[in-house]
Amino acid sequence: MRLFTAVEFSPANREALRQRALALQEKGLGGRTPRAENYHLTLVFLGESQNPQAAAAAMEQAAARCQPFTLKTGAYGCFRRSGGHICWLGVEPDKELLILQRLLLARLREQGFRPEDRPYRPHITLLRQAQTPADFPWRDLAGDWPGLTQPVRRIVLMQSSRAGDQLRYTPLAYADLGREENKTEREL
Ligand code: ATP
Ligand code: MG
Repeated sequence: MRLFTAVEFSPANREALRQRALALQEKGLGGRTPRAENYHLTLVFLGESQNPQAAAAAMEQAAARCQPFTLKTGAYGCFRRSGGHICWLGVEPDKELLILQRLLLARLREQGFRPEDRPYRPHITLLRQAQTPADFPWRDLAGDWPGLTQPVRRIVLMQSSRAGDQLRYTPLAYADLGREENKTEREL
């Protein structure tokens, strides 16, 4: 199965993200928008694995040591691929998010996973197979929307699958942030 770990958004935020995706599409970028339930922030992409239990264990260990935090969206951007561009909304690289991502990567490696070692670029995919002119005025878009914030109290292990041409993400396990800290506070 194809696995990744992620942060989920509230239903209201998922709908707001979908509206941003539709707005970009209408500004001439074309492409395909994710369905409302599919908007997420990937933390670590694992790819094919038959061991979701090990991934869930790594996730528990990392999440327990990280504080709940609030993520904030940032600037738009685009990955240029030969089959069409991926347009996204960036997520601010706040300290708590980066610590969580790094800790997760470390625990996953200890469990035997070999995720890619590329620098983490936190982003929320808004369009796939888009065509973005080189001079597209990304900066002008920033003015008409304040962005959104999302409290993060847990992270999720997702299975990614396809039914026909429909992409589906299925939550397999959740891990709460800050378990160990809470325990320490109670024990004191
Ligand atoms: P599809 O690839 O079918 O168009 P998708 O990219 O959403 O759709 P997956 O490839 O299963 O589905 O990826 C799941 C999540 O992991 C997505 O957020 C995707 O951007 C991210 N992801 C996929 N491959 C990588 C990778 N090599 N490095 C980092 N993140 C990745
Ligand atoms: Mg993909």
